[in-house]
Amino acid sequence: MTTTRFAPSPTGNLHVGNIRTALHNWLLAKKHGGRFLLRIDDTDAERSREEYVAAIRTDLAWLGLTIDGEERQSARFELYEREFQRLAASEHVYRCYESAQELDLKRKVRLGRGLPPVYDRAALDLTEADHAASAAAGEAPHWRFKLDHTQPIEWLDGIRGAQHFDPVQLSDPVIRRADGSWLYMLPSVIDDIAMGITDVLRGEDHVSNTATQLQMFTALGAHEGFGPPRFAHEALLVGTEGKLSKRLGSLGMAELREAGIEPEALIALLARLGTADPVDPALGVEALAASFDLGRFGRAPARFDEAELHRLNAAVVHHLPFSRVAHLLPDGMSDAGWEAIRPNLAHIGEAADWWKVVIGPIAYPDFDDETRAFLAAAAETLAALVWGENPWHALTSALKEATGRKGKALFWPLRQALTGREHGPDMATLMPLIGRDAALERLAATAREV
Ligand code: GLU
Repeated sequence: MTTTRFAPSPTGNLHVGNIRTALHNWLLAKKHGGRFLLRIDDTDAERSREEYVAAIRTDLAWLGLTIDGEERQSARFELYEREFQRLAASEHVYRCYESAQELDLKRKVRLGRGLPPVYDRAALDLTEADHAASAAAGEAPHWRFKLDHTQPIEWLDGIRGAQHFDPVQLSDPVIRRADGSWLYMLPSVIDDIAMGITDVLRGEDHVSNTATQLQMFTALGAHEGFGPPRFAHEALLVGTEGKLSKRLGSLGMAELREAGIEPEALIALLARLGTADPVDPALGVEALAASFDLGRFGRAPARFDEAELHRLNAAVVHHLPFSRVAHLLPDGMSDAGWEAIRPNLAHIGEAADWWKVVIGPIAYPDFDDETRAFLAAAAETLAALVWGENPWHALTSALKEATGRKGKALFWPLRQALTGREHGPDMATLMPLIGRDAALERLAATAREV
């Protein structure tokens, strides 16, 4: 069964780029009727915060990215220890003592000699006596994973195609610190195996991690007959100016929610961002999942345009059914009210403002004498009309005939008198909501005003 995971570190709020990765993993799982798992990567106790874990859950729930299971790395240290011991026993990991400064110096020396700045594996030459001496001096080792230099690293990336790395050009990754704490690399592989992950889809900043992690999969999994998952790496998200802007790196879901962005709009945009496929606000998640295809994603950076998101949001709001928004609307606003007003909204929050236009009181603009006379005639005409299915049509037809006014001269003063605004929802849908008494009162009031 296709099983994907989203593995955020709870060291900050999710931003648009993280959410895009989460969504794509979710769509990939849904497309194949599979499972989407959440893994909280909180091995870094100092930087991880409970409030971010809560925010991650809130954000996923807001977007409707249902999870079929959740794991927390901080609860899995026993498993990591066991697997680590297995790697130690099979000599896939080794002890090192270099300080950060020493490593930095080594890197500089290698670069100066025109060599790739990879770790020189000096610690592999240490004898048991050396280790004993370090232990006696109170020096604890950190641990590196020993890459197999005899095996070229290759995989067929779902987005980038055939990938090839020469392990000699890579440093043996540090997997465990001297204080016993874990770095990201090894626990992630242990979990991907334990959680039965079939597809790892993540940002292209992880490509070289994949190269070394593939050898960890082999070292850990070969033993029990697990194959590594399929890998795909997405091009990173950039802003409209083509760069990874500060704004984009920090634009979180809470901010978008507050700005009135609906999850449907964000999903419609992010699902296809990075492909040449059109963004279609009318497509629901089912259709987006069915059409989700890693092969459609390109290697060029995907451009995220906030203005486009807002345009898309308006298009989404114009089609949201009453049942979806009822709890967000002002008290008393009806299904018909929502349908009349929604074509005018960029955000659901603006509905309250238009609903005030319906229920009043409204502020009237100043009219000149001629317009007031016309509005007085309108009030009389309306009073004499039967309030039927389409009072706006009945009123404007009768007035057109009686006064000879047409077009803007006919409609505009009426709209202003009835709503207090120059623009707004279709009057034919608005007028039945305003109702006969209020309509009569508003026309009469503007006619009177001096
Ligand atoms: N916690 C890692 C990150 O946020 C997970 C990367 C991965 O998907 O393996 O970058």
